[in-house]
Amino acid sequence: MNDFAGLVAVVTGGASGIGLATAKLLTGRGATVVALDLKPDGLPDGIPGLAVDVTDDAQVKAAVDEVVERFGRLDVVVNNAGISAVGDVTVNSDEEWLRVLDVNVVGMVRVARHAVPHLRRSPSAAIVNTCSIVAWAGVEQRVLYSASKGAVHALTLAMAADHVREGIRVNCVAPGTADTPWVDRLIDRMPDPDAARAALNEFQPMGRVVTADEVANAIAYLASPLSGSTVGTVLSVDSGMHGLRLRPP
Ligand code: NAD
Repeated sequence: MNDFAGLVAVVTGGASGIGLATAKLLTGRGATVVALDLKPDGLPDGIPGLAVDVTDDAQVKAAVDEVVERFGRLDVVVNNAGISAVGDVTVNSDEEWLRVLDVNVVGMVRVARHAVPHLRRSPSAAIVNTCSIVAWAGVEQRVLYSASKGAVHALTLAMAADHVREGIRVNCVAPGTADTPWVDRLIDRMPDPDAARAALNEFQPMGRVVTADEVANAIAYLASPLSGSTVGTVLSVDSGMHGLRLRPP
């Protein structure tokens, strides 16, 4: 498929995991993709990167302006950069709360703020935000991360309403546990990483976590005209975690 031919996309957090898989997929389908990342290292040939911290409004604006100056347009924004925090409400400090919300929520706002004026000129404008299953499922020891992703869901709906009449579709994907360096880092800290990985897979209704490529495919669908009348929705890519309750085997 070459359905993104001629289109220009930015992917935040595009140098790792879901963002990298998305940047590769959209590039393979004809888009010019720029990965915006804190550390835009190790990107494959054909995917330019820009060093951007989404908590820095001036950096975000400069990056969006540079993309439009270099490539002449902007059609697709994948708001994907995110960080996590572990703990219940007694654990995380105000500084940690504000840092995670700054990256996960306000970071998306900053990118959209500077991208929307350009997207208004695109005939196939789309924004896809990376949410998470934790926005709806109470997950232990993830109070801060869950609150941030609940905000991403509400942000997606509100942005979709604001921009639908301008021809900009805003949607989000909600991965369950995805096989990315983020999850590898968590598992590698456990006493027995192999056993932890096996248990994590067994816990999923499909018997395995989802792949970064599967999430990227959902993002590409929401970013492409194939989903032309889909707006303000959530597409779950979660091995069945959010909706299924299986009997014990
Ligand atoms: P990852 O850690 O592999 O990649 C995240 C990327 O974001 C990294 O390249 C990192 O440098 C970049 N980044 C972090 N802070 C940034 C900042 N301030 N500015 C710019 N870039 C920044 O993680 P991933 O698993 O691919 O996660 C991507 C998104 O998917 C996140 O929003 C995460 O919340 C969401 N998600 C992941 C999972 C999962 O299980 N992996 C599940 C649900 C949702």
